[in-house]
Amino acid sequence: MKTAMDMDIQYLPGVGSKRAALLKSELDVGTVGDLLHLYPFRYIDRSTVHRIADLLPDQAYVQIRATVLRVRLFAKNGAELPAEGVKYNLANRLSVIVGDDSGEIETVFFKGIKWMHTRLLPGHTFLFFGKPTIWSGRINLVHPEVDAPDSAVAGGLTGVYTSTEKLHNSGVTGKVMLRLMGAALESVLPSLQETLPDYILREKGLVPLSFALRQIHFPVSQEALAKATYRLKFEELFYLQLSLLRQKYVRSRSAVGLVMPRVGEAFNACYRALPYDLTGAQKRVIREIRDDMRSGHQMNRLLQGDVGSGKTMVAVLSALIAVGNGYQTCLMAPTEVLAQQHYANISRYLAPTGVRAALLTGATGTAARREIHAGLEDGSIGLIVGTHALIEDTVQFRALGLAIVDEQHRFGVDQRARLWNKGAGGVEPHVLVMTATPIPRTLAMTLYGDLDVSVIDEMPPGRKPIQTLCIGEEKRHAMHNFIRDEIAKGHQAFIVYPLIFESEKVDYKNLELGYEEIVKAFPLPDYKVAIVHGRQTTQEKDFNMGAFAAGRAQILVSTTVIEVGVDVPNASVMVIESAERFGLSQLHQLRGRVGRGSERSFCILMKGRKVSKESQKRLDMMCSTEDGFVLAEEDMKMRGPGDLEGTQQSGLPISLNIASLARDGLILSDARTYADHILDLDPSLERPENALLSAELHRDKYAIRDYSQIS
Ligand code: ADP
Ligand code: MG
Repeated sequence: MKTAMDMDIQYLPGVGSKRAALLKSELDVGTVGDLLHLYPFRYIDRSTVHRIADLLPDQAYVQIRATVLRVRLFAKNGAELPAEGVKYNLANRLSVIVGDDSGEIETVFFKGIKWMHTRLLPGHTFLFFGKPTIWSGRINLVHPEVDAPDSAVAGGLTGVYTSTEKLHNSGVTGKVMLRLMGAALESVLPSLQETLPDYILREKGLVPLSFALRQIHFPVSQEALAKATYRLKFEELFYLQLSLLRQKYVRSRSAVGLVMPRVGEAFNACYRALPYDLTGAQKRVIREIRDDMRSGHQMNRLLQGDVGSGKTMVAVLSALIAVGNGYQTCLMAPTEVLAQQHYANISRYLAPTGVRAALLTGATGTAARREIHAGLEDGSIGLIVGTHALIEDTVQFRALGLAIVDEQHRFGVDQRARLWNKGAGGVEPHVLVMTATPIPRTLAMTLYGDLDVSVIDEMPPGRKPIQTLCIGEEKRHAMHNFIRDEIAKGHQAFIVYPLIFESEKVDYKNLELGYEEIVKAFPLPDYKVAIVHGRQTTQEKDFNMGAFAAGRAQILVSTTVIEVGVDVPNASVMVIESAERFGLSQLHQLRGRVGRGSERSFCILMKGRKVSKESQKRLDMMCSTEDGFVLAEEDMKMRGPGDLEGTQQSGLPISLNIASLARDGLILSDARTYADHILDLDPSLERPENALLSAELHRDKYAIRDYSQIS
């Protein structure tokens, strides 16, 4: 049903076809509703006129009523231009000293100089509106808005909207935007339909939509604005979660899963032989997986756990449940090295069970490959570990029941689909995706809101904390000495250099220089230094990596290629060069390469001479915590959810208009719990009081892209 909200924006008074086209191309605003959902990104208080003497440099936007006292024009080279017969093309800066009865202040213009110069005539009074800044020790206003002296806005806050140069140039200024919003409100309010059921407004104490829309654009007070904001944020997050949970519900009801009721002998044999007790978190997660596998519905579970939290064991025990029920498991890793390492670890765990495992990668020889294919087809191989080689069509299973994927974001959707198609009897296997990239809770609830998520939030006991310190160039010598001491104790060290795409050339230069310096500081025959980077051939890489892994080289100089890579428990030092250039989650992943053995480990962040405030904050965070989830939360706060590792490819499900995953975690949790509760009572949303919810979910904006589908 069309409402006033759906009206084409061009019919709104003050718009017309030209502006409509511009609003569409610049802001993606096509209807009156689109316009009203464009909320101010900040508000300014234009009810108060400040006294010049009271202005402070850290103040937000202020308004003064002042008279023009002196006007001066300057050229690019700083020379003052004569006031008479000005050549505006030479003018670079217009300085206007204005005053009120409390004092004087300079206002400065770099653009629109001619216009301002002809308008700001000495003796005339205006309202100046801008942000106080400090310039050579004095407060001034750069590019303030200039208005007639009596145009102060009575009462309330004024919204400021996102704009673009094009819009501005064609006359859609902040003021025009406000006028359009006013007209839009007028046209929709009389017939506005509430978008949340009454009972939700009541139970959650939310203001009605009409109030919220009016106050978000034209707040009468901070308090009214807060109520409006809360209502709109809640609504946005609530519908997002409701739609995700609906999808999850529909799928868990419809996706038929292989039923695996038994735990089985192999599981028990492995469990009994474990050299350690499982952590509480590992036990909980295994229970969750086990419940999924016997439920009759297909499992779609994301397993999150920091580096070293013991995900491999969980994978093995899950695989053994499948084996115990007559099914096979495949475990797919993103790289050859990781696959090998998984295979080596897993083989050890499987020894007491008699279950046959195999490794299949691009490097597997023809004869071995043939044997593996046969073993998979006759069912004698219970667990196959491998790389992309696993998804080739020639690989057929007798009864694939569980697919485990390590580090999911490195696999494409198509690749995964090809694996899932190999399920026993045409039924998709259960799916467990493991990731060591901690994702903030709010983001996980949204990115993977329609999946089940298990988190191993507890580290195995006895791990020694990694000591992290951040030092500057002047301590480089000390750092070398420290590495020498560690090597004398029989340990090894990583030295990692940043490699950023845009400055690849310079970065490789740095890496090479760094390598030369290290070789000089750690000469043969006492020391061996290996080097690994992306420009080497696979053989070179493997040779160098192998030398370090086997302990033949004590130092590995590399780019971030080792981020996900070999486990070298003997390595006790991780040096990160130009650490300020890395993101938090990357630093954390790199640090996770050490601290894997029983020895005390160190992470040394080398910082450059010029470090921005923001970068310093990251380095400080790294030194203050080892908790990947805490770091991920911080990273999200600093950079926003879109830039986080592991989310770039998938992207966010819908763009949020007003709520923020980084800041509105509490509202999000509340909205999710509430949505869950509603679906619990009325899974298909067919009760009359939920008709509105069902209708809203059918709107376009909730046709969420199913990017988090892992099956
Ligand atoms: P992840 O894959 O999550 O990074 P791993 O599975 O490789 O972690 O485990 C890291 C190390 O901790 C391994 O050496 C493993 O044997 C050990 N480990 C796993 N679970 C436990 C536990 N419950 N108690 C003690 N050590 C454990
Ligand atoms: Mg692992």
